[in-house]
Amino acid sequence: MHILNLLQNTRGCLSFEVFPPKKADNFSTVEAAALEIAALRPAFMSVTYGAGGATDSFTLALARSIQQGCGVPALAHMTCCGVPRAEIGQRLTDMRAAGIENILALRGDLPQGYVSAPGAFRYAAELVREIKAYGGFCVGAACYPEGHTECRSAAQDRLYLKEKVDAGVDFLATQMFFDNGLLYKFLYQIRALGIAIPVIPGVMPVTNGAQIERICKLSGTSLPARFRAILDKYGASPAAMHQAGILYACEQIVDLLAAGIPAVHVYSMNKPAVAAAIRSNLRDIL
Ligand SMILES: Cc1cc2nc3c(=O)[nH]c(=O)nc-3n(C[C@H](O)[C@H](O)[C@H](O)COP(=O)(O)OP(=O)(O)OC[C@H]3O[C@@H](n4cnc5c(N)ncnc54)[C@H](O)[C@@H]3O)c2cc1C
Repeated sequence: MHILNLLQNTRGCLSFEVFPPKKADNFSTVEAAALEIAALRPAFMSVTYGAGGATDSFTLALARSIQQGCGVPALAHMTCCGVPRAEIGQRLTDMRAAGIENILALRGDLPQGYVSAPGAFRYAAELVREIKAYGGFCVGAACYPEGHTECRSAAQDRLYLKEKVDAGVDFLATQMFFDNGLLYKFLYQIRALGIAIPVIPGVMPVTNGAQIERICKLSGTSLPARFRAILDKYGASPAAMHQAGILYACEQIVDLLAAGIPAVHVYSMNKPAVAAAIRSNLRDIL
């Protein structure tokens, strides 16, 4: 099923994310976790993609397994930086053969010292055009409520986002944020630019206080005082942080759904216990 159709016919739903292993030895463990999450019946599940194609075949295999094993539509991520242009068509053919109907088209993070291959895509918008020209796929793209770190301003980033959407994007998925006010402001700003497609906000349940400061710094995500107080108080206690992080994420999700957002994406990170706790907390809502 195309995710766009799903978004147009829901009164509110959740999706979960998993990432593929780096090595074949770990595939079955990751697959088992993904299927456990899929058994919670999210509206769809996304499977990330290693920059530079490191997990190319694992992304596809995991996405296929989620769809065939549990009947949950998969959103396969695909990055294009460092990928020779000729390879993209083959990847799309493989995706189609595997029954994948939804792709999140991304540029990918540029590795240090990155030199573009001749003729390779520079921006995700070019990948979006390529996938649309191939035909048949529902295409999502990334967006950044606080602006992308490489762009000189958030306002300029939104203008580039408009170009990307105009290349044929069907829906957007956001980077994580911890203050829903930032998301609502971003939505007003992009709607004013004429971006009318659905936006799926991404919420990260923070269960490990030690990692989050670094992740936020790298991704340009701000931590509001309210969340920082939680980190200060519970960050050093794994069980308390686990519970507080899930409850904070649930509060964000309830607020987003109440505001009329059709779907919230949860960065569940291969953790069935986290996905199950969120599902359980929201059992009378979704
Ligand atoms: C929901 C989500 C899922 C993600 N999943 C993955 C994943 O699975 N694997 C992975 O490796 N990474 C993933 N990422 C990270 C992503 O690859 C990085 O953030 C990457 O740096 C940018 O990718 P993009 O597709 O947003 O790039 P683009 O849309 O191409 O933008 C990249 C930068 O270029 C600028 N730009 C765009 N167009 C132009 C132009 N015409 N001229 C000049 N500048 C321009 C933008 O403002 C931005 O700063 C994900 C991010 C999000 C938000």
